[in-house]
Amino acid sequence: MHTLTGRCHCGAVEVTLETPRATAELPVRRCLCSHCRPRHLRYTADPEGRARIVTRPPGHLHAYRFGTETADFVRCATCGLLIGAVCEASGVRAVINADLFFALRDRPHRDASFDDEDAGDRSARRARTWTPVDPNSALKRPDR
Ligand SMILES: [Zn+2]
Repeated sequence: MHTLTGRCHCGAVEVTLETPRATAELPVRRCLCSHCRPRHLRYTADPEGRARIVTRPPGHLHAYRFGTETADFVRCATCGLLIGAVCEASGVRAVINADLFFALRDRPHRDASFDDEDAGDRSARRARTWTPVDPNSALKRPDR
């Protein structure tokens, strides 16, 4: 297993991605949706991996939901850096902001646009491509 670790700007949020893939084989996708494109957000994920977030203090995250409201975009409650997105699709799964990981910062990305998906397509894609979240992680879908 390879472990990538990143932090938000202020250091309150630490994210870890464990993956059996070499760093060079991890996908980096720039999302072209109306939320992510203006922020130049690029994501990575590995369905064979595992994502975990630790925050100090606990629960130090802010979640934003829009559109189909099937995912939460999660950011540090202090510095506002976007950590990733989390959803329920065959368990709790996440994509992580690839630029939090030093090893992925200079990696080229592919553009991804999912505006044409319906809710079923979207859930199936996420179950196939997003990273399972460690059950002990702070990164879990907030109850509403
Ligand atoms: Zn922060």
